[in-house]
Amino acid sequence: MTSAASQDSSWAGFDVGGQAVKAVLVDERGNIVARGGRATGLETDVRHLAAAIGSLADELSATATVADAVGIGLAGVMGADGVLHGSPNLPRLVGRPVQRELEEILGRATIVDNDANCAAFGEGLGGAADGVASYLLITLGSGIGSGLVLGGELHHGATGYACELGHSVVCSKGRLCGCGNRGCLEAYCSETAARALVAEASERLRAAVIADVSERGHGHAQSLFERADGGDDEARAITADMIEMLGIGLASAVNVLDVTVLVIGGGIAPGVLARKDELLAAMDASLFARDAASLTVVAAARGGDAGAVGAARLAMSAR
Ligand SMILES: [Zn+2]
Repeated sequence: MTSAASQDSSWAGFDVGGQAVKAVLVDERGNIVARGGRATGLETDVRHLAAAIGSLADELSATATVADAVGIGLAGVMGADGVLHGSPNLPRLVGRPVQRELEEILGRATIVDNDANCAAFGEGLGGAADGVASYLLITLGSGIGSGLVLGGELHHGATGYACELGHSVVCSKGRLCGCGNRGCLEAYCSETAARALVAEASERLRAAVIADVSERGHGHAQSLFERADGGDDEARAITADMIEMLGIGLASAVNVLDVTVLVIGGGIAPGVLARKDELLAAMDASLFARDAASLTVVAAARGGDAGAVGAARLAMSAR
């Protein structure tokens, strides 16, 4: 890793999803200096993936001095043992010791983590939590992803499954979650939850939201938030409940972790952050020994690049 020591080094990060590998090359401050990409699919196995990453690394090396170590974020459940224990989009990698196998094939130091952790790490390098030592990222999309950085390092827990905030229970015996449990935060404040809440709404609101989705390309949650803003009382009641549950979940996380910076990303984030006062009020009710005014709640800034930048930061940390 001699190149990592030189001042003009750059670090390569790869975000591996079900359809593509996104590659970025970043400098020490997290500026993206080069990009690349390759297609992936259900048939992608370790050998295919290593070939794609290897050729992307060569491509990126043509533009700058690249550190030997590479970071890779995978859409799936990564264990602390370096084995991918689950991934709906990359089934041929499941059960494989991907970290060791990729490292052997690539012939360079390789750090693999899951994509939500990488996204959290990426927000701390030139993103919404730039320079912040301890913070929590929560991504509100079809499900809820989250990642925790404590003292400048990703926190994985004892077995690699830390920070599943979407499956923290915010309501005893509450709504059924996709994971099989009841009352998870994800069952209240995600696009999947919004879709279910719309299905249970009045015929009038249901028809209106479905029209927004099909004619204007809105998500169900976005439509609910916009209709609430437009004075629709039923939509307002539904979204108020979503925000309250998110507030309970985040307050519980703050009570356990003592983080004061919360970064919110994902497709639902704009609607949520437009209700920041409501969210802070909901948190206030559940916070212990502090008030919500002491917290910083900000929008994620890296967008779709967060995972790849965070993976590059993993490589940087390998120095
Ligand atoms: Zn759940």
